[in-house]
Amino acid sequence: MDMLRTSSASVRVALDSLQANIQGTVLVQGDAHYDDARRAWNLAVDQHPAVIVVATSATDIVKAVRFAREENLGIAIQSTGHGVVRPANGGLLIITSRMTNVHVDPDAQTAWVEAGVKWGAVLDKAQAVGLAPLLGSSPDVGVVGYTLGGGMGWLARKHGMAADSVLVFELVTADGRLVRASASENSDLYWALRGGGGGSFGIVTGMEIQLYPVETVYGGNLIYPASMAKAVMMRYRDWIANAPDELTSAIVLMNFPPIPEVPEFLRGKSAVMIRGCYAGPVEEGEALIQPWLDWQAPLANMWRAMPFAEVATISNDPEDPMPTMATGAWMRVLSDAAIDTLIEYGVSVDGSSPLVVTEIRHTGGAIARGDKNAGAFGNRDASLVLNLIGATPTPEARERMERHTQAMKDALRPAMTGGVYLNFLDGAEAADRTQDAYLPDSYRRLMAIKASYDPENLFRFGFNIPPASDN
Ligand SMILES: Cc1cc2nc3c(=O)[nH]c(=O)nc-3n(C[C@H](O)[C@H](O)[C@H](O)COP(=O)(O)OP(=O)(O)OC[C@H]3O[C@@H](n4cnc5c(N)ncnc54)[C@H](O)[C@@H]3O)c2cc1C
Repeated sequence: MDMLRTSSASVRVALDSLQANIQGTVLVQGDAHYDDARRAWNLAVDQHPAVIVVATSATDIVKAVRFAREENLGIAIQSTGHGVVRPANGGLLIITSRMTNVHVDPDAQTAWVEAGVKWGAVLDKAQAVGLAPLLGSSPDVGVVGYTLGGGMGWLARKHGMAADSVLVFELVTADGRLVRASASENSDLYWALRGGGGGSFGIVTGMEIQLYPVETVYGGNLIYPASMAKAVMMRYRDWIANAPDELTSAIVLMNFPPIPEVPEFLRGKSAVMIRGCYAGPVEEGEALIQPWLDWQAPLANMWRAMPFAEVATISNDPEDPMPTMATGAWMRVLSDAAIDTLIEYGVSVDGSSPLVVTEIRHTGGAIARGDKNAGAFGNRDASLVLNLIGATPTPEARERMERHTQAMKDALRPAMTGGVYLNFLDGAEAADRTQDAYLPDSYRRLMAIKASYDPENLFRFGFNIPPASDN
């Protein structure tokens, strides 16, 4: 663990000088806002940084990075805390949540977003001019953290991963320089950052991203009782086999908590849901759903034409901070055996499963077509990705989730590719399995790029991309 004696006179002087030189705020343990600042959206994360800098600009971040170098502190980065990889214990935690500028250019169909922007802000501004960003299921997730992990949303099969749509990164590197990375500037860094390498290469202060003309989509959920899960999952497998790229969908086994926010007919019950978004003419979307309705009447059909601005209603992710654990993996096939396993572990009978969500997203399409030479992102040839989520309010609950999901993943191994999607992992697993997110050549190249930009591994709290030792 990094050690900094914040009580020592020389460190105090350095901290005072940092505070005097930035617009943002410097906090150490004991300061009034330290506990608020160290809190992540995921309340299961309990981190105790030596120093926190709540930055307001790229200049603040440059100065914070130089301070960390001088004090020999590792640097962690947080915008919302939805995806903390390693708690920032003993290090310098740079919080970007106050850097919230968004500028949409309707003619160029691009947006410039600062490091602390959440997707909802980009969605609103882009939709006002008929454009859409490649956000994920939740508008409360941070644009930069999501994109640096790949970024898979409801337009993924049509327009690809969010990382593929970044035109320019502006970032502060480990030597405290503010640089740009694009196809024509620092192109090696650009390739690494477009690959889901997370915060290993620097602190992104802003990004220029491509937007797409998408106004009305047809999206929602078909809900069937969990007792029909096997038949629904088998039918889903056939349904997606020839699905057009306009359709990005998922099948979800959901154990609804017994809380008032859940409609009564689902409260405390389990269900299987076909969820997705058709980004093409509404009639074509309706025609894709109709065969399901002809087959069996669902408990509810919530598919509807909607402005893309309402895309968050498809998953209805929780907004308020909560303690959670996520894990997952890329899958090759939804075999009969895999379906049985998913139901056995995913559907809770009298509390048998700690999972709230067992989601399998259909990938391929534009994700698979992404150019591997244009970004490090790997596993593009998988056709499905598994995403398991549970609530983990106590260490015991987390241990149970870990045991349950490990046994589930072991049983699913024949249907998996062996690769992982980093955005659907959290905590230690995201660090331990970073390598499995990449092709072997890409991972080696990432380590070489890391060696030239961050040889001392200053950015060591994110995904595990160590500097290549022979560079
Ligand atoms: C409710 C929910 C819904 C989700 N839905 C989806 C989804 O649909 N699709 C999908 O792909 N993922 C999804 N995710 C995963 C999410 O994309 C990741 O957890 C992501 O890391 C969150 O980014 P953040 O900035 O909000 O979180 P943070 O915890 O603030 O950041 C996550 C990590 O990103 C890095 N990082 C953040 N900001 C910077 C920066 N400025 N410079 C360098 N590195 C930085 C850091 O390493 C940090 O540890 C979801 C997660 C949750 C909890």
